[in-house]
Amino acid sequence: MNFQLTEEHLAVQAAAREFAQTELLPGVIERDEHQKFPAEQIKKMGELGFLGMMVDPKYNGGGMDTISYVLAMEEISKVDASASVVMSVNNSLVCWGIEKYGNEEQKQKYLTKLATGEIIGAFCLSEPEAGSDATSQRTTAEDKGDYYLLNGTKNWITNGSSASVYIVIAQTDVAKGHRGINALIVERGMEGFEIGPKENKLGIRGSDTHSLMFTDVKVPKENRIGEDGFGFKFAMSTLAGGRIGIASQALGIASGAYELAVKYSKERKAFGVEISKHQAIQFKLADMATNIEAARLLCLQAAYDKDTHADYGKSGAMAKLFASKVAMDTTIEAVQVHGGYGFVKEYHVERLMRDAKITQIYEGTSEIQKIVISRELLK
Ligand SMILES: Cc1cc2nc3c(=O)[nH]c(=O)nc-3n(C[C@H](O)[C@H](O)[C@H](O)COP(=O)(O)OP(=O)(O)OC[C@H]3O[C@@H](n4cnc5c(N)ncnc54)[C@H](O)[C@@H]3O)c2cc1C
Repeated sequence: MNFQLTEEHLAVQAAAREFAQTELLPGVIERDEHQKFPAEQIKKMGELGFLGMMVDPKYNGGGMDTISYVLAMEEISKVDASASVVMSVNNSLVCWGIEKYGNEEQKQKYLTKLATGEIIGAFCLSEPEAGSDATSQRTTAEDKGDYYLLNGTKNWITNGSSASVYIVIAQTDVAKGHRGINALIVERGMEGFEIGPKENKLGIRGSDTHSLMFTDVKVPKENRIGEDGFGFKFAMSTLAGGRIGIASQALGIASGAYELAVKYSKERKAFGVEISKHQAIQFKLADMATNIEAARLLCLQAAYDKDTHADYGKSGAMAKLFASKVAMDTTIEAVQVHGGYGFVKEYHVERLMRDAKITQIYEGTSEIQKIVISRELLK
């Protein structure tokens, strides 16, 4: 067993850290406050190869492994989880889904641009009445011969107003249940496609989350991913990998808060000494560091499983379940270490605490991760 990162891994990690500190940190508080999408920063992330990290170079991707992706996600998420969710959705849901299951025309037309960030993508599964229970899709894609007629509403879509390409999951044949669901590539600007107002959120406020409305949108048949009825499998398979991205986002939020807490504890004095000299603070830091290390190992294990073509369903779900709890616990304690200063925006930890919560909700809530894990255990 080798825990050593390679030179390439260390280089990716260093590049992501440098980018986060120089390009994302300035302005992160203002973007959160004003719910401003980090458009300029995302463009640069695309130029640096962070938006199509694992895509084959023949489709303009970075050809990197999932471990590199986890390392980069952690560094970006330490500073700006609103930027890292864009990165996660584009890499693990949209690019991966099209590369793994799309046909050559779809890869040439969409993946080559998604991989460089020239355009970004969105993944549209959730609906007002279909969240955890993703089989109850009400959005319909009626088969009309050479096109599908798409009708319905999708909820909570990340990159909702910034994307150019949307993978939309919809029901074609109700009688076939989840085997009658399709995944369609919908382009922004198709007639009948409308974007609802931006959600006003607790955390990841820089990311743009929207409802999407489809009214008689004609989606050409060639935009279907995979065989007829493959949509549900497509969504579940894609989300299994997506969880590794969100787990590493949670890891980054936790380690970002921890680093700030360590720094602050060495600066702040109370009762004549730095607060880091008080054992109560030392124990908090020890707990944070131990939990973060365990979360990191779970994330890397899941990434390793994916890279070695082992089953990563359980390890990815475990990584997300654990890392998202560590993100929540660590950020709450990081605010505590900062005392009153932790409660105001300048010190960053209150934002990280707000951002942490979403990692227990999207791409499968913690309860759903437990269902996934226990199903595997009891097979
Ligand atoms: C900011 C944000 C961004 C998002 N981005 C996207 C996106 O890009 N694309 C997309 O498709 N979706 C996205 N989502 C949607 C997200 O994936 C769903 O919110 C999530 O899956 C939960 O669904 P729900 O909100 O309908 O909750 P529900 O499914 O209604 O769940 C409510 C509660 O019940 C629990 N619960 C439900 N079923 C069970 C069960 N069987 N056993 C135990 N407990 C259960 C849940 O864990 C949860 O605690 C996003 C959501 C948010 C808030």
